[in-house]
Amino acid sequence: MKKVRVRFAPSPTGPLHIGGVRTALYNYLFAKQNGGDFLLRIEDTDQTRFVPGAEEYIIEAFQWLGIQFDEGVGIGGPFGPYKQSERKPMYKKYADQLIETGWAYYAFDTPEELDARRKEAEAQKKTFQYDATTRDGLCNSLSLSKEEVEQRLQSGAPYVIRFKYPANLDITVHDLIRGEVTINSNLLDDKVLYKSDGMPTYHLANIVDDHTMEISHVIRGEEWLPSAPLHVMLYKAFGWEAPNFAHLPLLLKPDGNGKLSKRDGDRLGFPVFPLQWKDPKSGEISSGYRESGYLPEAVINMLALLGWNPGTEQEMMDLDTLVKLFSIDKISKSGAKFDLEKAKWFNHQYIQIADDNLLLQHFEKVLALHNVKAEGEYVKMVMNMIKERVHFIPEFWEQSSYFFVAPTEYDPQAVKKRWKPGTAGHLCKMIEIIDSVQPFDKQVAHDKIMDYVQGNELNMGAIMNSFRIALVGAAKGPELFEIIAAIGVDETKNRVQKAIQVIEP
Ligand code: GLU
Repeated sequence: MKKVRVRFAPSPTGPLHIGGVRTALYNYLFAKQNGGDFLLRIEDTDQTRFVPGAEEYIIEAFQWLGIQFDEGVGIGGPFGPYKQSERKPMYKKYADQLIETGWAYYAFDTPEELDARRKEAEAQKKTFQYDATTRDGLCNSLSLSKEEVEQRLQSGAPYVIRFKYPANLDITVHDLIRGEVTINSNLLDDKVLYKSDGMPTYHLANIVDDHTMEISHVIRGEEWLPSAPLHVMLYKAFGWEAPNFAHLPLLLKPDGNGKLSKRDGDRLGFPVFPLQWKDPKSGEISSGYRESGYLPEAVINMLALLGWNPGTEQEMMDLDTLVKLFSIDKISKSGAKFDLEKAKWFNHQYIQIADDNLLLQHFEKVLALHNVKAEGEYVKMVMNMIKERVHFIPEFWEQSSYFFVAPTEYDPQAVKKRWKPGTAGHLCKMIEIIDSVQPFDKQVAHDKIMDYVQGNELNMGAIMNSFRIALVGAAKGPELFEIIAAIGVDETKNRVQKAIQVIEP
């Protein structure tokens, strides 16, 4: 068998959609599973759609995700350059080859002429197509005399090179996910392959590069399936062996109604891009998984399962496990709905199993944003106390601020529900009891407080929650005596006194 070589071939037209990240991930998994190579090729032939910063964004996104390329832009390799604009001089000869062999032709029609044809067809409720039935009446090297063609080329008249589909030919794409997909050439437009500005179109560059880079499998989004018959024909025209094709199902909106678009994410409350993106023209900011506090491992696991599953109930899979379990035949044909709750669940799970030191780095960054500096061991202890409540990294602050700074406000609803007349007096007694436990011991203090609460027939829920409100500012957080142990008895006293002053002066 030919060596497995796959590529991810984004166009730098903006930030990378998570659908693209999933495509790259599946390519990576397939390559690694088969001891193959995974390439990054930048397809920037359409200069009009070039967006500054997009290429750097793509590279940074994969660095963050921990998905490594073996060859490509930013890495190099024996098949470079890997950026199509840098390969520009090599495409012309392939376009010429197709002209020579009769698989392509020059077309000189101006955009205005083509537009007029389109309008004409529309008026008759038809769609204009450049094909076997219309070529003769248009301005191209098939309809003009040899001399006229020569003369136009000599004079530098603008032209494009179009692919010449044979009429009425059934073209079959063998797709590893969809099986055989057949379409008749009469339904296809003679696509432009090359423009006289010296740039190939996506189709020509893509095929030439896949062939010369020895790509064995083309794994890409379903939106490219309509282009696949042309690609199959191009391989045939060049006399090259076509790679295997696999067109991945679309990523759908959570309700299943349509493709997950770039606009959906921030509207529906989740990112559609791996990293935050600032549009260089409009300045508009789109949120990213990284900045929203997702761990890359969670994003990978979640994305892997959007359109594929291992055939078992297993859900938690790191990259190595995914490499072992992945298989193209378990990719579904139908679109995969994005599931925000599931994404949240995965992130929560990965926070629970994250390496302590790694999570600590995240936590310390969050603390720094709030100008809090604390000793590493203390931060680590707090982190382990609260992480089960955290779904996204920024929530570390909401869940832990009171371990670092005293509350300045008290949740009015919790106060209304829990703080009864006389609570202040009891809390004062309780801190005296706690203070009397020397040296402080969580369990001893707890038992003594329980004796006090029971001895005075207090409402346990109300009084303990009032104590909590004084320390935390709200009725939340881990076990109360854990909090006391962490912040210390003196700080506990101060907070209780302050709460009394504010709530029950
Ligand atoms: N440049 C295309 C894109 O932006 C690549 C499609 C393909 O993989 O063939 O998605």
